[in-house]
Order: sequence, then structure tokens, then C-alpha cells
Amino acid sequence: MCTKDWYGIFSTALHKECFTQGEIQQIYKIEMEARTFFDFGGIVPDFLILQNIERDSKKIRYYWDSRSSEAMCPFCGMMSNKECKDYFDKPLQDIPQGGLAVYHVVRRKKYFCENLNCPHTRFVERLDGFGEETARKTIRFKKYCVERALENGCKPAEDALKRDGALVSNDSIARYLKVESAKQIESNLKRNDVRVLAIDDINLRKGDKSTGCTVLIDEETHRVLLIIRGT
Ligand SMILES: [Zn+2]
Repeated sequence: MCTKDWYGIFSTALHKECFTQGEIQQIYKIEMEARTFFDFGGIVPDFLILQNIERDSKKIRYYWDSRSSEAMCPFCGMMSNKECKDYFDKPLQDIPQGGLAVYHVVRRKKYFCENLNCPHTRFVERLDGFGEETARKTIRFKKYCVERALENGCKPAEDALKRDGALVSNDSIARYLKVESAKQIESNLKRNDVRVLAIDDINLRKGDKSTGCTVLIDEETHRVLLIIRGT
């Protein structure tokens, strides 16, 4: 499979135009900043710097380096500026582009936690709003999958996403849908303004008595508050 990379194409073209190596580096840096602004502005955390882009017939890979100077320990909440000089790389799949799967390969920094009471001595910096700690997909890609599944169901969503170039299974889509539904129900449950409670029963699998559930609903807003196994 033939892979092309942005820096290779860019530097070869500028070299032919007799730009010096220093000039090529300078123009390339501006080019990467412009690409970040137009394609991922407000999506990718500001401390990530785009290094290169690779493309073959099936996927595009964006390579990012972290330029953070501090990060918050996710276990105790204390800020740290003590870097470990150790990194964590994991590709995160994003919304497909032009029939191709999209991946972000982010080189995340590790920091020491200086809080003596914290159960962890080191941690990987987080990409808040972009990708969760151990996730293989970006948060917005998961939302994109959930939206497709809500329109037509998980299997048709998988087929549609595959046609768009993404690589995602029906099982993963169902998992994202469950997590999103659980969050929604949790937030509905926290509200204390329910005035009329409605009770209904549903069956997750038609004709199977063991999969019956009781559903508690806010009658006025029709929000689901709770689903209990058994009727
Ligand atoms: Zn900590």
C-alpha cells in the first residue's frame, strides 16, 4: 500500500523551487498551524502541535506532539510541571473524511504527581474533550456513531460508517449507545422537579418473558428516569 506524507511532498516541492532547508522548515511550521486551525480548531487541545500527515488508500493519520508545560493529575487533581521524559502513544480514530478512516497519533507526555498523598506517582496527561484516557476513538467520533445508531439502529449505522471509510463494529456502536444512554438517564435522575411519575413496562426481546423491564418516566417531559429489570 503506497503511503504519502505531507512533509515529504511539501519539502520536495519547495526544494525544487530552490527554498533553503531553513526556509522550508519555517514555511512548513506555518502550514501545519494553518491546517490545525482550519481542520481541527476548537477540537484538538491547544497544546497539541501537528507534525505530519500520512495518507494511503484506506486511511489518513495525523501525527501530534504535546507542547504542554503542566498537567493536572487525574487521580488527585494537583497540577504538576515535573515531566517524566516518557511518552504515551495511542492512535485515536476520528470522524472519517472523504471515504477514508481518520486517526490521530498523539504523543502524550507523562508527568510525576508531587502530591505525597496521591496513590499514583506518575500519570499521562489527559486530552479533555477530545479523547478519554484509554479510548481508541475520539469523543466526537463516538457521538457521531451514537447519532447514526439513533437514526437507524446499530447494524445500519455500522454499514453506513464503513461506507464512509470508518472502521467500527456494531458491538462498539452499541456500547457507545449504552454509555450515552446511561449518562442521559443519570442526569435525568438527578433532577428534583418531577411532578407526575408514569410507570410503563417494555420488553427488550419480544416474546421472551425474562427480558421484561419496568420504566419510570417523567410524565410531563417524557424523559426516562429509571429502567428496572423485571416487571
Ligand atoms: Zn496525583
